[in-house]
Amino acid sequence: MGRPTLNVLVAVLALLVLIGLVLLVVPYAGNSVGEQQEEAESGISAELESQPRKETLQSDASRQASSGISEENSQTADRSSEYLILVNKTHGIGKTYKPKDLKAAKPAASDRPEEYQKLRKAAARAFYRLSKGAKKKDCVIKLTTGFRPYDYQKTLYKQYIQADGKKRAEQYSAKPGYSEHQSGLSADVSSPSVDYELTRSYGKTKEGKWLAKNAHKYGFIIRYPKGREDITGYEYEPWHIRYVGTDAAKEIYEQGITLEEYLGDI
Ligand SMILES: [Zn+2]
Repeated sequence: MGRPTLNVLVAVLALLVLIGLVLLVVPYAGNSVGEQQEEAESGISAELESQPRKETLQSDASRQASSGISEENSQTADRSSEYLILVNKTHGIGKTYKPKDLKAAKPAASDRPEEYQKLRKAAARAFYRLSKGAKKKDCVIKLTTGFRPYDYQKTLYKQYIQADGKKRAEQYSAKPGYSEHQSGLSADVSSPSVDYELTRSYGKTKEGKWLAKNAHKYGFIIRYPKGREDITGYEYEPWHIRYVGTDAAKEIYEQGITLEEYLGDI
């Protein structure tokens, strides 16, 4: 009976040593699994975040190429955000560009087609906050049109040319593929006080004045300010706001400059 007891003892000891080893190793193993999970998760989110950037690569690259700003310089100036793309008469956005994160923007004027009342997610959220801020000052501000796809812009542009002639139409309308509305970052907004029309007198209304003074707090700029037609290429439009993010919007507002000047593209 002595030997089997010894065997049992040895077996128990071996088991204890094994348990000891497992207890020692498992916490580290657990950590490394956790780290791997974190890496995997951050990898996924980094990939998701970089997706919209990929879409803007083309126009960013063309902007940098034609403006002479190297990628390195533009990044050190922190002007490489996906919300800082430049779309104007000389910087097209391409025929096929359509943001992947379009959301219904609210509040929106009910007399316009809903399919064109979308903005990129960040811009839609910011616009919602803007409208709430305006309401606190008794200003009702609603979106009339946000994202416009290439084909719709093509139809509009043709109509404007037929109505006003090419020269006049180009002072207020963009060629298809060159409209900032295709970026999903621009919104035409208006108010009941002007029957939701897009009119220059909007700048003189209570709502238009509030917008000009406060839009930057929510990441928007008045994209086509008065007297800057030579830089922006467009007449004064107190109703057209563009999402650039709060940092850029604040700087642009405080310095009283245009997006072209901010991006060093004049
Ligand atoms: Zn507009």
